Amino acid sequence: MHQPRVAVVGAGVVGLSTALCLSRLGPPCAVTVVADKVTPHTTSDVAAGMLIPHTYPDIPIPKQKQWFRETFDHLFAIANSAEAEDAGVHLVSGWQIFRSVPTEEVPFWADVVLGFRRMTEAELKKFPQHVFGYAFTTLKCESSTYLSWLEKRLRASGVPILSRRLGDLWELHPAFDVVVNCSGLGSRQLAGDAEVLPVRGQVLRVRAPWVKHFIREGAGLTYVYPGASDVVLGGTRQEGDWNLSPDAEASRDIFSRCCALEPSLRGAAGLREQVGLRPGGRGVRLQAERVRGAAGTLRVVHHYGHGGGGVAVHWGAALEAALLARSCAPAPPADPAAPASPAPPADPAAPAPRL
Ligand SMILES: Cc1cc2nc3c(=O)[nH]c(=O)nc-3n(C[C@H](O)[C@H](O)[C@H](O)COP(=O)(O)OP(=O)(O)OC[C@H]3O[C@@H](n4cnc5c(N)ncnc54)[C@H](O)[C@@H]3O)c2cc1C
Repeated sequence: MHQPRVAVVGAGVVGLSTALCLSRLGPPCAVTVVADKVTPHTTSDVAAGMLIPHTYPDIPIPKQKQWFRETFDHLFAIANSAEAEDAGVHLVSGWQIFRSVPTEEVPFWADVVLGFRRMTEAELKKFPQHVFGYAFTTLKCESSTYLSWLEKRLRASGVPILSRRLGDLWELHPAFDVVVNCSGLGSRQLAGDAEVLPVRGQVLRVRAPWVKHFIREGAGLTYVYPGASDVVLGGTRQEGDWNLSPDAEASRDIFSRCCALEPSLRGAAGLREQVGLRPGGRGVRLQAERVRGAAGTLRVVHHYGHGGGGVAVHWGAALEAALLARSCAPAPPADPAAPASPAPPADPAAPAPRL
């Protein structure tokens, strides 16, 4: 039985979740992940992993809400299962605080997170510089733990993860019928998309086990996000900056901004700096394309450009990308002699296509 061969380029949160959705969707197809970097070396590993949506100006709000809701529901089920610790997914409650009342008093995602409400006067007393805030419960992924868990899930479903740097998506032709491009910032080169730009983010990870509530200021430049074993302090947003080395001045600034929100952080230990380059500049591109060349036609589904909010929407967007990729796969060659029969399940032992 012919199964379409699908290559997913990228092993960040977008690529791994897209590959997993593809491997679960029927009818079966043979999925392979190809990436030059895997966890713990991707941008996704640096993400604080909070489920608070970033707004994409070019995507209709109902679509963004659907992606967020599907991601929230998916991770909420994991957080309430025996898998939660292995997957690195947990609930976290806290505050988003504002120095002036925001124009949009109720964000579009308010009824997706749990227990969304305005902060009380008593809560706001903790933040004398701030006049308004929301309190809610959301989810947080420990990014590297979650990526390892996704990889484990893929391997258990028979999806190989190949380490390879591609210079061009055509390198996957004709070994694969469909290529799903989840290469994040790599799409500048692989999709020739000059709109994709790095948005540099620097964070600190500290040990402060007494901090249990998250604090996010306004649009989220400054934040304190407690996780399973450390607290992530952020951050920076530097458009067009490719520098992956931590900057000491930026670290001092982040620490001082976070201590202004949570003074007890002055007693934190074990400070580590991390830098990641968000795939920003253009917003999410989730789109099928047929690229014609001398060697034939390359069927590509692009799925990149998640900027500062890839974790918050990854599962919903991955479901959509997987359906699109499945619909792009060529029909199997017709066999008029074959009796009609239901498709057999995917064979996890089937060898990966040769590159
Ligand atoms: C400091 C910081 C904090 C963040 N916090 C949050 C948060 O709290 N919540 C949230 O939702 N988002 C957050 N983000 C954003 C989030 O990290 C991104 O949206 C997300 O990681 C993008 O995932 P990705 O899989 O598209 O990209 P990546 O993780 O960069 O993965 C890209 C993959 O493509 C591969 N690739 C690229 N080019 C090639 C090539 N030529 N050949 C082969 N493989 C290639 C790479 O090796 C890699 O495997 C944060 C980001 C930063 C930097």
